[in-house]
Amino acid sequence: MNSSILLKFQFILLASLFTLSACSKPAPVFHETVFTMGTLVEVTIVGADAKIAEEAYSAILDDFNYMHNTWHPWKPNALKRINSLLQTGAPFPIAPSIMPLIKKSQILSEQSQGLFNPAIGQLIKLWGFHQDNLDEIIEPPEGEDIQAFLKNLPKMSDVKFKGISMFGTNENIQLDFGAFAKGAAVDATIEHLKEFGIKNAIINAGGDLRAIGNKNGQPWRIGIRNPRADGIFAAIEISGDESVFTSGDYERYFESDGKRYHHIIDPRTGYPANKSRSVTVIHSNAATADAASTALFIAGPEKWHAIAKVMGIKYVMLIASNGDVHMNPAMAKRIKFTIKQPTIKLSNPL
Ligand code: ADP
Ligand code: MG
Repeated sequence: MNSSILLKFQFILLASLFTLSACSKPAPVFHETVFTMGTLVEVTIVGADAKIAEEAYSAILDDFNYMHNTWHPWKPNALKRINSLLQTGAPFPIAPSIMPLIKKSQILSEQSQGLFNPAIGQLIKLWGFHQDNLDEIIEPPEGEDIQAFLKNLPKMSDVKFKGISMFGTNENIQLDFGAFAKGAAVDATIEHLKEFGIKNAIINAGGDLRAIGNKNGQPWRIGIRNPRADGIFAAIEISGDESVFTSGDYERYFESDGKRYHHIIDPRTGYPANKSRSVTVIHSNAATADAASTALFIAGPEKWHAIAKVMGIKYVMLIASNGDVHMNPAMAKRIKFTIKQPTIKLSNPL
């Protein structure tokens, strides 16, 4: 287990202790943690018959494993095959297992003005962020290689559909759904839990989660991780059907010459985005929340509001690189700081 995974595990434990402490009356609680989709996934089901909860959990484990294997950007799988076919430009039959990800991310990429761009897999690889272990990266890529890639920057709109075929229109295209697959997987598994008749549950994938229902009549309480210290920065209550997703510069990074290079790349510059420490969004759909947290992180304090509007996001908290906390008024109403209150920059309503 590498250190970033260990940190995530500690954080999930912290967040779940926090969640459990909000519960007063006893109700049957099913609780399991598993390593899948490259992270620790914690499943909590409340108020369901134990046998049904077990069955549902086992079913969604299969889902997670399937999605992990099919959508992993670098393992030999359906996505890898599609990537090599897209690069040729020749038409080939649409792959049903990847199609929904492509279609949805095309819309989200466009709405984000290309800041969320899952077509830049080659750039991610150039940086080395496709590897599980970042310990061996000693320096950033050559500026020339980044510039050469940017000259012919692939976009999601370079994936075209015609009848039952698809093809690529940019030889640099390489799909990497790292900023979005976790959200899509959380959506798919929450829908599957609902099919089992489960009404109250949280699926928490490394601190990013979607919750349905409530916790024995009480809202779920969620901790938002402090981007610059251990522990929780703020808390938020959710109920009904909501997802809370955070993108941060502390998740995956390497250091070279005393400088931190993290894994969220600004497709305009080819370098890690440098305007934010973290962005948290709340949205009904986890895949949209996942893509939006990545896009708004790159957008930074000046641009996040305009892009959130187009993406249809109603709750945003952005911690800028100088530590200021930017929020829309609706988010500010829901956030409770668990540390000394930082400088708040309230935006216009979304
Ligand atoms: P995490 O998965 O840690 O929650 P994100 O959702 O922000 O973080 O996703 C970061 C991952 O997304 C990177 O590891 C990389 O694979 C991919 N990525 C990086 N920059 C972009 C971008 N601009 N658009 C789409 N995907 C990106
Ligand atoms: Mg994301």
